[in-house]
Amino acid sequence: MSVSIPASSTISRRSFFSTTAALAGSVAVSPLLTNSAFATAPLSGSQVPGIYRLKVGSIEITALLDGHLGVKQDLIAGFNQQKAEAATKAAFRKNPYPGSEMAIPVNGYVINTGDKLIAVDVGTANLFGPSLGHLKSNLEHAGYKAEDIDIVYATHLHPDHVGGLIDANGNSVFPNAELITHEVEWNFWLDDGILSNAPDGMKPFFQMARNAVKPFEKSRTLVQNEQEIVPGIRVVGLPGHTPGHTGLHITSGKDELLIWGDVVHLTAFQFANPDWTIVFDVDQDLARKTRINIFDRIATDRTPVLGMHLDFPGAGHVARDGNAYKYHASSWQYQL
Ligand SMILES: [Zn+2]
Repeated sequence: MSVSIPASSTISRRSFFSTTAALAGSVAVSPLLTNSAFATAPLSGSQVPGIYRLKVGSIEITALLDGHLGVKQDLIAGFNQQKAEAATKAAFRKNPYPGSEMAIPVNGYVINTGDKLIAVDVGTANLFGPSLGHLKSNLEHAGYKAEDIDIVYATHLHPDHVGGLIDANGNSVFPNAELITHEVEWNFWLDDGILSNAPDGMKPFFQMARNAVKPFEKSRTLVQNEQEIVPGIRVVGLPGHTPGHTGLHITSGKDELLIWGDVVHLTAFQFANPDWTIVFDVDQDLARKTRINIFDRIATDRTPVLGMHLDFPGAGHVARDGNAYKYHASSWQYQL
């Protein structure tokens, strides 16, 4: 079936809709669609692969979904039900926060510079059950093999960011990769004195970080703020969530983008309430200051961001909104 449009005419909105309505009407009575085989197709019951691509200048980035975590309000310091409902309403979300549990994604990214493949955070592997641990299979859906990765950049050493460095036997999943992270981050999680003084609830995080980086002890590079890991990609210090928590600022041609790690955990709430923090922040005051500073800077510069816990694929912009901020998720990038 084809619709012919006169080459010389501009089709009006009205005639377009009346044409499509007529076509839809003719399809609706077609015996083809009354065939019961269409009605009995089984539901797939699972989502399509969690991958998405975008371009920054000549650099290609692939977002990879590891899965999702359930966050309850008792993990949010500063939580207030009324403000939560106002924030969800302002973001035009129909349901106010139900007070039970909300799903937040765990995202990782692969940067292809043309010369290097850089994985930025690699998810959880098998640490947190079946709702997570899918980053490696999504990497394969995106057309890459773990062996192809040259660099794994860890924004920080929390288990939802580096758990995927190792398999169930503790062996490296990325045998040809160098691990790069901030010097302060490495020293914090690997220091025995800090571990012995840490609260009991935090000790398993040290153990998970140490297990994850173990195969990389001889193939790791520690970096400082503002250092370039490859030309055009530099380290941005974003301390607070962890002591050496960082992002990567990417510049290519006229384009730029900031991968900001865990500046935000709760897309629905923390733009409207940037003072709310997650209890996993090692230094909550510093995390809050860092978040507000970076919101302010990128709202001024209109720098696009990618975030590990922003709604997948985690690509958007930040704008000022009175004394707070607003998040605008990027539209689909149609062409690369
Ligand atoms: Zn995280």
